[in-house]
Amino acid sequence: MSFFKTLETDTEKKSNTTAGQASDHVKCLIIGSGPAGFTAAIYAARANLKPLLVKGIQPGGQLTTTTEVENYPGYPEGITGPKMMEDLEKQAARFGTDIRWGIVTSVDFSKRPYAVVIDEKQVIEADTVIIATGATARYLGLESEEKYKGSGVSACATCDGFFYRGMVVAVVGGGDTACEEALYLAGLCKKVYLIVRKDHLRASMIMQQRVFNAPNIEVLFERNTKELRGVQVVQEAVLIRRQGKPDESEEVIRIDGFFLAIGHTPNSDVFKPFVDTDDTGYIRTIPGTPRTNLPGVFACGDVQDKVYRQAVTAAGSGCQAAIEAERFLGHQ
Ligand code: NAP
Repeated sequence: MSFFKTLETDTEKKSNTTAGQASDHVKCLIIGSGPAGFTAAIYAARANLKPLLVKGIQPGGQLTTTTEVENYPGYPEGITGPKMMEDLEKQAARFGTDIRWGIVTSVDFSKRPYAVVIDEKQVIEADTVIIATGATARYLGLESEEKYKGSGVSACATCDGFFYRGMVVAVVGGGDTACEEALYLAGLCKKVYLIVRKDHLRASMIMQQRVFNAPNIEVLFERNTKELRGVQVVQEAVLIRRQGKPDESEEVIRIDGFFLAIGHTPNSDVFKPFVDTDDTGYIRTIPGTPRTNLPGVFACGDVQDKVYRQAVTAAGSGCQAAIEAERFLGHQ
């Protein structure tokens, strides 16, 4: 699916000069516009690589779906996610990054220069490619979940848990992430419900033990969420117990926050024919570096990180990717 019909630069003038061209050739192509992509752009532009950044399907990345960011160093009063991304974009543009709307629809990394197709028509040839396409948090798909996003519904406890200090929250999921998020929230909140659809957790034994030992976590097995309710903000969740069984029943829990932890999908599909990924789709990088299996192709941010997933760690890895791209080009 393409949100943008044509490849357009941010200014009409640039758009007119690029429209219809068969290909551009750049030293450094950055794909993605979250903290990783924009940080890579700032470093690459300042190193005179004249980077081209293609914004992708969710311009600004996941941070544009959060409200307040209080854990990014340098903002003592906090900053909203959209404002932070706006500032990062301005900073990348200030040093000459060519920032364009568009979605990568296919790539050919079988030979160099690498070819990347935007919106199924514009071909960009690149000496180096920095993949910063992020990951997308999975949601249950409820209408009410959409309604309360940013008003009680979150997919990141580390980002938003602080706003629920002393309150009652629920976490959905039974994997390591859900347990980790529940434990993190248990340190801040009065009570945490862990809503698990099966009769057991999928998480590693050690995480399960920690959850069961936490006095303020209550695990609700065999529960599916039917609906969230509340006046302007989330106030309760309607759960179905033993859905589809003869003794199925409905119950309501009173909560202030509802956290999804049912997995993330790394946005790596288009690169998979060429770039190594693990069995869950995360791009494999050489540990401690943003290097992939292909020379001159680097990955940074959440598309290669299933553990930390923070704006600051994404930005750090974006910086690494740009430095690696610069060194790679220097050696050519
Ligand atoms: P995961 O292991 O895929 O677990 C997802 C959980 O969400 C499962 O319990 C699943 O239920 C549940 N779920 C999925 N769709 C659902 C739905 N529609 N409704 C209700 N529940 C739903 O994902 P993850 O926990 O994010 O972990 C991903 C990978 O990262 C794993 O390999 C994990 O071990 C790793 N990880 C490691 C650490 C660590 O080592 N510290 C931390 C985080 C993650 P079912 O069990 O019923 O399928």
